[in-house]
Amino acid sequence: MAYSAFNPPVRTLMGPGPSDVHPRILAAMSRPTIGHLDPAFVAMMEETKGLLQYAFQTENALTMPISAPGSAGMECCFANLVEPGDTVIVCQNGVFGGRMKENVERCGGTPVMVEDTWGEAVDPDKLEAALKAHPQASLVAFVHAETSTGAQSDARALVELAHRHDCLTIVDAVTSLGGTPVKVDEWAIDAIYSGSQKCLSCTPGLSPVSFSERALEKVRNRSHKVQSWFLDLNLVMGYWGGGAKRAYHHTAPVNALYALHEALRILHEEGLESAWERHRHHHLALKAGLEAMGLRFIVDQAHRLPQLNAVSIPGGVDDAQVRARLLGDYNLEIGAGLGALAGKVWRIGQMGHASRAENILLCVAALEAVLSDSGADIHTGVALAATQQALGA
Ligand SMILES: *Cc1c(COP(=O)(O)O)cnc(C)c1O
Repeated sequence: MAYSAFNPPVRTLMGPGPSDVHPRILAAMSRPTIGHLDPAFVAMMEETKGLLQYAFQTENALTMPISAPGSAGMECCFANLVEPGDTVIVCQNGVFGGRMKENVERCGGTPVMVEDTWGEAVDPDKLEAALKAHPQASLVAFVHAETSTGAQSDARALVELAHRHDCLTIVDAVTSLGGTPVKVDEWAIDAIYSGSQKCLSCTPGLSPVSFSERALEKVRNRSHKVQSWFLDLNLVMGYWGGGAKRAYHHTAPVNALYALHEALRILHEEGLESAWERHRHHHLALKAGLEAMGLRFIVDQAHRLPQLNAVSIPGGVDDAQVRARLLGDYNLEIGAGLGALAGKVWRIGQMGHASRAENILLCVAALEAVLSDSGADIHTGVALAATQQALGA
């Protein structure tokens, strides 16, 4: 039989990632593949490291993309910084904090959980109490931007507390990087990881990470080998950090790295501050429309992520059917609830290249059309005007 080429439908991606990919990034990806030790490629890798330092606001020499998705960046941080027997304080206020706990356990560490209600920020007072109760702890881990709920935590305050108690920090910035401020050096974060497909608007499959000198000292002085060969920073550094003496470790995903380079160039051209402001502006327009319709956000305004908007599903509405109609009739993808919030919320992303006025207008109009057609109890005829007004302000 003959197989036909796969031609994906053109969608508007307003879920929790992947987000809309800029056409310049897709074009970069289709350029000719060259050897991953080719001097031209190595020069591009060096530039990518510099661009990542800008995105993370850091001078950390070890700032590079791991050749695998955000989950691998997470695993890289834990595999290198947790040794068997270590006590690690994990703050959990959503799905991704639970994965951090899994990582600690699989590295032979003992997790101490600091739990907050889903939809709320991590409470610094609870972290402080845990640090006092567990003076043997050596590491604190938390998610800066919880994509499962849309809540942002105060990374600067949490890192400061951890350091006061002689702990290193691992920060998940998968959804925050490029959408809201992430200041690795100013906040003194020790290890951080992100993902290519959220506010960087790149294709999925790469995980930028950055490690401070303090974190690397701990990695160099480990008493047990890192149990993952692929993610052992001592080996990865010989490849990404080796300069002209770059040694083969694995074959880099060459074309995917062209894409990341282009995505970071786009971010650099726009400027971080402008990117943060664009996400904020479009969040306010989306909020104006959704609230005019009568939908409610689950996160308080003070801790709300502009790039990930979690709203309660109105009563009597079929969650899956609404999302299927948005996709089928409007080519619009929004996200379902995860974990404890499955079936209760929709997660509307406006990340990176998806954070554009035309997308916000489409989302508000399409959601109103589908909801009113499904007989949902919403206010009709007012949402678009509210959105337009907020966009023009
Ligand atoms: C998406 C996400 C991840 C995982 O990234 P993948 O690229 O899907 O592996 C981790 N943490 C947070 C907060 C995320 O939003």
